[in-house]
Amino acid sequence: MQNRQYYLDPYQAEYRTEVTELGLADGHYQVILANTIFYPEGGGQPTDKGFINGIPVLHVYENSDQQVIHVLPEDPGFGRAVCVLDWQQRFYHMQHHTGQHLLSAVFYRKYGIQTMGFHLSEKYSTMDIETGALAKEQLMVAEQEVNHLIQQNLAVKSYFVPTTEAERMTLLRKPPQVDSDIRIVEIESFDAVPCCGTHVANTGEVGIVKVVKTERVRGMTRLYYRCGLEAFKDYQFKHDLVIGLANAFSNSEQDVLARVTAELEQKAELERELRRIKQQLLGYLAHELVAQAQGRLIVHHLDADQGLDAAPLLINEIFSRGRFLVLAAVGSRLFLSHNLEGGKLDLNDLVKKYGAEYGGRGGGKSDFAQVYFPSMGQLEAFIARITEESI
Ligand SMILES: [Zn+2]
Repeated sequence: MQNRQYYLDPYQAEYRTEVTELGLADGHYQVILANTIFYPEGGGQPTDKGFINGIPVLHVYENSDQQVIHVLPEDPGFGRAVCVLDWQQRFYHMQHHTGQHLLSAVFYRKYGIQTMGFHLSEKYSTMDIETGALAKEQLMVAEQEVNHLIQQNLAVKSYFVPTTEAERMTLLRKPPQVDSDIRIVEIESFDAVPCCGTHVANTGEVGIVKVVKTERVRGMTRLYYRCGLEAFKDYQFKHDLVIGLANAFSNSEQDVLARVTAELEQKAELERELRRIKQQLLGYLAHELVAQAQGRLIVHHLDADQGLDAAPLLINEIFSRGRFLVLAAVGSRLFLSHNLEGGKLDLNDLVKKYGAEYGGRGGGKSDFAQVYFPSMGQLEAFIARITEESI
């Protein structure tokens, strides 16, 4: 296996080595170095970024011969290679990868829950754990324990052991079946797993671990978590949010959720009350319209600010008082409905037949239809036309 400096010293952000092989594929230079500080994508951890001889490293991967290939847009030339890592990104990976080891170890030790997958990305980090029913309290206890381990500043060590020895070790995860030595990552006196990623040297450097979201995925639970500065930024954002909410409701931070819940309940109650009063008013209106009706046709224009739901409510109130054809307009939208006997009048047909003539668009069923007109003039013309036709 090619020398991998990132195993020996994951903190090395600058390194001088040699370009030993150089090829061209898909318009990009494929570069092999004598030794490398760039981590190739794998095991849930993304590729490192940075520069080789001032040329940006686009991607790093391991080929089938276990060689680390660095993909560059320009030719770095043979010989001397000055390598510079994107350290900010690397440290983010080291922190979040170690954070995952801590979470995985605690979930297994405490609840016997295995970690099934892990994914690091620029925006968030996730891990899938083998349970579809994670209780809120379980998660809180696990988070507390992980942060306690961080505070203890335990050493994180890595070393290679022969496969036979790895099989004898008490490891959380089964070692892979490979011919070469297995790399073990150990958190002092707490956890040891086979892993090929980059990690911080002491748990204290993880800073803090906070799970920010959970979701069910294929019978498992996906944990979205943040470490270190990312967790702190998230805390800052949420702290501001809670303070803003508490101020807006003139409440303490502790009581603001109960206040918002109470406000929402009150709002729902007021909406129910409003609807009841609206229905009552439309009942009075229906009574008046029925009293004034000549024949079976009732045409009425509702105020636009009464809302679209006023039309069907009015229609129901009228129907509870007799048999009619009702044309109820809200702005330039017309609701047509009838409860006349005989079944000859088809309102959908009527809308389709004459609506388009006046620029109307809509349709419905034989006893209920809606049609929308571009202008009040067109709506009025349509009403005049179908009044002649239908009655
Ligand atoms: Zn790892």
